[in-house]
Amino acid sequence: MDFNDTPAEAKFRDEARSWLKANVPTAAELEGLDYIGKAKLWQKRKYDAGWACLRWPKEYGGRGASAMEAVIWGQEESKYETPQSIFTIGQGMAAPTLMAYASDEHKKRYLPKLASGEEIWCQLFSEPAGGSDLAALRTRSEKRGDEWVVNGQKIWTSGAHYSDWGILVTRSDPTVPKHKGLTYFFLNMKSPGIEIKPIKQISGGANFNEVYFTDVRIPDSQRLGAVGQGWQVSLTTLMNERATIGGGGMGVNFNVAYKLAQKVMIDDRPAIEDSAVRAKLANWYVEEAGLKYTGYRTMTALSRGQTPGPENSIGKLVAGTTLQEIATFALDLEGASGVLVDAAQPSASARFQAMLLRSPATRIEGGTDEILRNIIAERVLGLPADMRADRGMPFNQIPTRSR
Ligand SMILES: Cc1cc2nc3c(=O)[nH]c(=O)nc-3n(C[C@H](O)[C@H](O)[C@H](O)COP(=O)(O)OP(=O)(O)OC[C@H]3O[C@@H](n4cnc5c(N)ncnc54)[C@H](O)[C@@H]3O)c2cc1C
Repeated sequence: MDFNDTPAEAKFRDEARSWLKANVPTAAELEGLDYIGKAKLWQKRKYDAGWACLRWPKEYGGRGASAMEAVIWGQEESKYETPQSIFTIGQGMAAPTLMAYASDEHKKRYLPKLASGEEIWCQLFSEPAGGSDLAALRTRSEKRGDEWVVNGQKIWTSGAHYSDWGILVTRSDPTVPKHKGLTYFFLNMKSPGIEIKPIKQISGGANFNEVYFTDVRIPDSQRLGAVGQGWQVSLTTLMNERATIGGGGMGVNFNVAYKLAQKVMIDDRPAIEDSAVRAKLANWYVEEAGLKYTGYRTMTALSRGQTPGPENSIGKLVAGTTLQEIATFALDLEGASGVLVDAAQPSASARFQAMLLRSPATRIEGGTDEILRNIIAERVLGLPADMRADRGMPFNQIPTRSR
């Protein structure tokens, strides 16, 4: 690939740079706001200036920009410490699904508020019995007149507690094979009958939830796709999910580990002089370089107007494991101070601790390591497909202990 910007790309980059320089919120502007307030302030500022959801058409609040321009914007924005986004699911996953399946009226009503950050969306897909095998989900939807009545339970719903809207996949027909009896909706998260219970995480936070549905009513006009077409609609969301969720490194990378190894002493010598430490660092350097160049392949595909292929799965698989290893190594090196979780401590910026506690989630969300390996095996390497014993069997005849 050509690593240089074209003249048009360079001009766009300059424009993005100068806008960011003048507009990234200062600490004083953000003071007193919680993380939702901070995220909304930054999103609205970008939206008002035409820097939100760059690839979306202008009429829906975007900029009508090219894929390459969106990549350039991402590169420039990531140079700043901007408020953490809470709009990833809405903008990266719900919006492309709405664009593909919602009515024009709904697109005009919902997309601009998603782009401006005024409304937040969550994704109600996973269930206790439907995670990697999403099509095994059990939440029931039944049509009554112009409405659907939904009963069941979702789990791991990120941001359900602060979301205004949700995308939901349900089982509308249990008598047909599992992928054929699903129907997809969007719904108001304040609807009567929805109960949201936070799930406490190892880090002490509670970013995701259990969501219970008891006779929740959804107008038929909020169905996306045909009755029974929910699997195809879900694939639109899931394909965008893989593209949206990356490694999520929290600033942990080779360079940070390298600097730490220069500073910390082992047996009266800087750790960097230890051959075992050097071997580990060398491995991570090679992995990071591999990831960088695999990323360039994706960029090359984008700049040629092509869709990146399943090799995208490699990035998340390698990044997730590497981050976990680097965080573990860093905490080992830090010795006793590694157990501190205190952002105010200069020796332990709490970055590695936070990463260590977050890294198992990185290896699960948006497709577990094993599922990504299956994808790489089947679709990149062309190996024989995983066994699927329930293929073609009506959902209500699949043997199970309870349903
Ligand atoms: C931080 C985080 C945020 C999330 N946010 C959301 C959200 O907002 N909305 C939402 O709907 N979901 C969300 N999820 C859920 C996520 O999509 C699921 O956790 C994920 O799909 C895995 O499903 P599961 O947890 O049910 O695990 P299971 O599917 O039960 O898997 C258990 C284990 O079995 C392995 N396994 C399963 N099938 C196979 C196979 N065929 N071959 C080999 N191994 C296999 C898995 O790799 C795993 O190790 C989130 C998860 C995390 C961690």
